[in-house]
Amino acid sequence: MPRILITGAAGFLGSHLCDRFIREGYEVVGMDNLITGDLRNLEHLFPLKQFTFYNKDVSNFVHVSGPLDYILHFASPASPIDYLKIPIQTLKVGSLGTHNCLGLAKAKNARILVASTSEVYGDPAVHPQTEEYWGNVNPVGPRGVYDEAKRFQEAMTMAYHTYHGLQTRIIRIFNTYGPRMRLNDGRVLPAFIGQALRGEDLTVFGKGNQTRSFCYVDDLVEGIYRLLHSDYPYPVNIGNPDEITILQFAEEIIKLTGTKQKIIFKDLPKDDPTQRRPDITKARSILGWEPKVSRAEGLKITYAAFKALPTEVLHKQEHRDFLGYARK
Ligand code: UDP
Repeated sequence: MPRILITGAAGFLGSHLCDRFIREGYEVVGMDNLITGDLRNLEHLFPLKQFTFYNKDVSNFVHVSGPLDYILHFASPASPIDYLKIPIQTLKVGSLGTHNCLGLAKAKNARILVASTSEVYGDPAVHPQTEEYWGNVNPVGPRGVYDEAKRFQEAMTMAYHTYHGLQTRIIRIFNTYGPRMRLNDGRVLPAFIGQALRGEDLTVFGKGNQTRSFCYVDDLVEGIYRLLHSDYPYPVNIGNPDEITILQFAEEIIKLTGTKQKIIFKDLPKDDPTQRRPDITKARSILGWEPKVSRAEGLKITYAAFKALPTEVLHKQEHRDFLGYARK
């Protein structure tokens, strides 16, 4: 039975990855310090003997006993509001945390896949974004702590590949959504659905003409699975190229939820990327991958999952006071 370490296991993506690798017959070691993760995402796995969990901060020295065949480094805050609340931890987990994971992979002779991001392209001057584009990132802006840590992560990962001959994989993840996103983490989909469920108006930042391209979590997990098992060491974009403006997205959520609330406009946060869409030519040709779940289907499943959450979760204040966080 292959053995895999997944950091950020209690988070949105991490927990879906744990599920997938358990299903594929792996022994899964989950690790998380629970700053932004939630053990409820893993509750169903604890009874399984193929699953173990370490409550640990990967930014400090990590030790895992026994062999490891694979490591997935997915620990990181992932919402612009988190970057403002916990900027130093965000920088550390992308840089020091990555270094620790690479060191562990080397010690165990394991293959490692690191979670990078479309944020390495910053506010992109090239559209859609290809892996060859070097990006347009403000290192000292509100997103700099995430973007620069992830750029460092890619450089460090390539260095371990070229210098130590480590088997490394780099995925650049574009906006992804699905069940288990933190309802109040400030990102646009949980923000809009949360607002609709609480009977609040939907807050569109700026004029809402900025674009994003949303990928359903199961599609992303399939892309990760394929990339891990490929032999391609360079960055690969995984995302859904179906691009939409944020205003159109708000309208879709209003239709989906049937809310009577309206759209209100708030100031656009600093350095908010104006457009984002992955070029997935590489994923198509190297991995034979493309997204299968339409936004209509994915949103239906996600809405049903959010609707089933307990009322106290729905009304938890965390982060909601931060709306319009970078207004000044
Ligand atoms: N956004 C919005 N209203 C919200 C939250 C986000 O209009 O309540 C916008 C945000 O300004 C950005 C887009 O939605 O243009 C996606 O934001 P998110 O935080 O989900 O992730 P990003 O792609 O910006 O990292």
